[in-house]
Amino acid sequence: MTKKLVLVVIDGLTPAAFESAVEGGGAPTLAALHDAGRYGHAVSTFPSLTPVCLATLATGAHPDVHHIPHLVWYHRAERRLVEYGSSFGAVRAAGTRQAIRDAIVQMNALHLSREAMTVFESLEDAGLVTGAVNVPCYRGRTRHLPTLPGFGGPVEGPRRFFYYSLFESDVTGAPLAVRGRAEGSIDAYAAAVGRWLVTRDGFDFLFYYLPDYDFASHSLGPTGSSVALARSDRAVGALVEAAGGLDEFLDRYALVLCSDHGQTRVDRPFRLEGALGDFRLHRPGIRRDSELVVTASNRAGMVYLLPAAQTDARSIAERLAREEALDAVLFREGDEAIAFRDGEELQFREGADGWMGRAWRALSNPNAGDVIVSPAEGVELTDLGGRHHVGGGSHGSLLDGDSTVPMLVVGTDAPAPASIADVAPLVLEHFGVEAPAYARAA
Ligand SMILES: [Zn+2]
Repeated sequence: MTKKLVLVVIDGLTPAAFESAVEGGGAPTLAALHDAGRYGHAVSTFPSLTPVCLATLATGAHPDVHHIPHLVWYHRAERRLVEYGSSFGAVRAAGTRQAIRDAIVQMNALHLSREAMTVFESLEDAGLVTGAVNVPCYRGRTRHLPTLPGFGGPVEGPRRFFYYSLFESDVTGAPLAVRGRAEGSIDAYAAAVGRWLVTRDGFDFLFYYLPDYDFASHSLGPTGSSVALARSDRAVGALVEAAGGLDEFLDRYALVLCSDHGQTRVDRPFRLEGALGDFRLHRPGIRRDSELVVTASNRAGMVYLLPAAQTDARSIAERLAREEALDAVLFREGDEAIAFRDGEELQFREGADGWMGRAWRALSNPNAGDVIVSPAEGVELTDLGGRHHVGGGSHGSLLDGDSTVPMLVVGTDAPAPASIADVAPLVLEHFGVEAPAYARAA
């Protein structure tokens, strides 16, 4: 009989932090799972930012297919910014109500392409029960009303759907998810819901997402967050305990554990808008005949050319390539993509491997900017509210530290995936469900 499967994603966990916690005794549940499984490193997608990466984990597609381009982007058809939550300042600058609605509802209902199939959709179509705890990319087949009246909705999610106390398909008695973020309240909420689900054997597939580690790592840096990782470990431990111990847990469940992206230390901010200050730049809420839109956050940035711009992507890219703060400047020219990197002009096409393949898929997203920049090591781009994490950690770039993730597979014969895009196909294959064509071709 096919075992059920749990996918655990610890946001922002680097391979180094995972390995040192496993070896140093700071994460006993993760260590026990590590000893029982196959472990390796995998590569994320680009930009290596949570909404983009979680959409990849949930669908097995890269941004060229799933269409989620960045934490903040310009919606060409609606002529406005979409801000999923770079910082409180950025959310306020974009308009709080709109930003909350974009992050919680519209990302799944409208921005996530219908060409991409989530694991929830594929598995539920095959008659299986899926669950999601706090997963930002949750699109499924079941209608759910919000717990707060006046919030809007309904949304389409998996059968068992728990989202930061805002959507709860079942009454579990879990505490509110939103208070005391720095103390790990969201993972504590996940643990309470997870315990309830495992106790009732309430799913075939569960996507169990733990975001608190990333939050801690942004402020304390990628090597300073072992206390937060111990809390993530306890949240995974709650599932194991609810099953009656590790052996019982692994009798019932296969498990995939990974992160969505890495993190690297940042020590200097860079304002991408400053490099383009002689153009009329779009600002939220201010109507004028803008030429360019700059969307920057963490360690990725995009520039959109508007109809009034008397310039082209190459000219903008050439100018940005002179900035020492930027490692790679990317744009499309017909069937080719161009990267300015290390003082060289590199051309590549569809089917390129390595970082060029990731860059291609980012540039081939219809919601992406005309120019995409990947900052140099140590640099963070200030967001719409002027915020950054300098002195702590960040991610988003093409560089290895932002892009490499730990990948652990327990209780299946499948090899550990080499890319986060291979996780959804692994899950589908585990249940004997055919992966979507875009994931089979890869
Ligand atoms: Zn993050």
